[in-house]
Amino acid sequence: MRKKIVAGNWKMNLTLAQGEQLINDILQAGLKLQDGQEVVVATPFPYLLKAKSLLKNNPGFYLAAQNVASEKSGAYTGEVSAEMLKSVGVDYVIIGHSERREYFLESNAALAKKIDLSLANGLKPIFCCGEPLEIRKAETQNDYVAKQLEESLYHLSAEQLKDVVIAYEPIWAIGTGLTASAGQAQDMHAFIRSQIAAKYGREAALHVSILYGGSAKPSNAEELFASPDVDGGLIGGASLVAADFVAIIQKL
Ligand code: PGA
Repeated sequence: MRKKIVAGNWKMNLTLAQGEQLINDILQAGLKLQDGQEVVVATPFPYLLKAKSLLKNNPGFYLAAQNVASEKSGAYTGEVSAEMLKSVGVDYVIIGHSERREYFLESNAALAKKIDLSLANGLKPIFCCGEPLEIRKAETQNDYVAKQLEESLYHLSAEQLKDVVIAYEPIWAIGTGLTASAGQAQDMHAFIRSQIAAKYGREAALHVSILYGGSAKPSNAEELFASPDVDGGLIGGASLVAADFVAIIQKL
């Protein structure tokens, strides 16, 4: 009933030619996506238009941006608006990745604005949440993530929430080779779903796809995706290698 999604987050990697090659290799792998399964590719901004032209006649494949401005339009040098992303055919946008929060000081309030502008322009947010290592060590990760959800998402209506995908990405697992165990991922995903249920009702909570991110790779994807509340993955490093990304998609 809810979508199963594997999204590749290229971050600040690859040239245009390398990105084109990667998308072509993924498309030529002969993947058979089932109903309700989606593959999302989040490229750097300058490649979006090209990536769209490669992906567009492939059912089940979607394009994402890695960020969006928190303002609508105007004198914001270097920023890219939700309307601009929509105009080049973007489907999804990653919002609140921990690297944006940490290096670019994006607050929960600014992320809420990005969510609103994305939804208003017909883009589906992939909203990232997740705790740093010290919070995990203190065992307060549930409170931490609950606050992220509350401050960036809970102003939305139930109708708006239907277009939001949540990605749980424990910061200590991103790019570190340390993966959350399937049990840790499941516990947090079930917690997130219970929070959504408390706010929006059980039906809405059952509808929301919750992806896991953090050193997901072909060798652990199957176990992670087998957990009942894990609806796919947001993949960084392993999304840069066609064979690995394809292998992860095949575990959906
Ligand atoms: P990783 O990154 O798979 O390289 O750990 C995941 C992410 O940051 O989205």
